[in-house]
Amino acid sequence: MMQARADAMAAPAGEPAEAIHIEDLHKKFGLLHVLKGVSLSARDGGVVAIIGGSGSGKSTLLRCINCLENPTSGLIRVNGEEIRLKDDGHGGKMPADRRQIERIRSRLGMVFQSFNLWSHMTLIENVIEVPVHVLGVSKAEATATGEALLERVGLAEKRDVYPAFLSGGQQQRGAIARALAIQPRVMLFDEPTSALDPELVGEVLKVIGDLAREGRTMVLVTHEMKFAREVASHVVYLYNGLVEEEGPPDQLFGAPRSERLQQFLRTVS
Ligand code: ADP
Ligand code: MG
Repeated sequence: MMQARADAMAAPAGEPAEAIHIEDLHKKFGLLHVLKGVSLSARDGGVVAIIGGSGSGKSTLLRCINCLENPTSGLIRVNGEEIRLKDDGHGGKMPADRRQIERIRSRLGMVFQSFNLWSHMTLIENVIEVPVHVLGVSKAEATATGEALLERVGLAEKRDVYPAFLSGGQQQRGAIARALAIQPRVMLFDEPTSALDPELVGEVLKVIGDLAREGRTMVLVTHEMKFAREVASHVVYLYNGLVEEEGPPDQLFGAPRSERLQQFLRTVS
């Protein structure tokens, strides 16, 4: 049994290791059964795009990976480490080990739909906050890394500006720099452009696309189908809490088999 599990965890010859592994994940909110047995895997260097209608469970799935929600049942491994949960005594689950949750989170860079920079801090302060105050990086080192990241997302000259004085696109690029500052193994994006004015979407997709092309591992929930087709190595279509269809982008977008997916693609394009 142990051997079988060890074998399952090792990457097949020539294939990158699994950065994220999810098996038969269920999540209920009270009587609402939101995730109904989702399995998914993201390999090192891969870009998994998750698409699906509103309410299909996309955000809940990402939030389970980042331990912002506790699954009702099922298994999640991040870089080979299984998230351990225990019964919370109310029919739900809770983390078995808070320190493990911190460790798991330190491997994940999360960017949400709405801008989540801290408003009382300048951009560079936002970017160095977690490295300095949580990860124990020296301020000088975090600042040097942070400045390089701001440069990368095209915000070097905005270093000392407060979020309120940045456009939505700049704020979202800042949020990406901040997520990258912890040197995560995997980036998680939850509809990072859906709250933006249309003319600002491109600049944010450009930054995410560059990261993808550099081989950064990511799980990306998006409404931008053209973009998903371009950058994803694997696409997962979620319908009503289940994986309805998945595969390489050309297959999913070019020759969808499921009626529901065909219907969904007609409504979003
Ligand atoms: P998506 O991101 O695909 O639009 P979500 O994962 O946000 O979907 O939500 C899936 C379903 O779960 C929705 O019906 C939503 O109302 C419900 N839901 C999400 N979070 C909670 C919560 N904390 N409590 C109760 N219901 C929730
Ligand atoms: Mg959502």
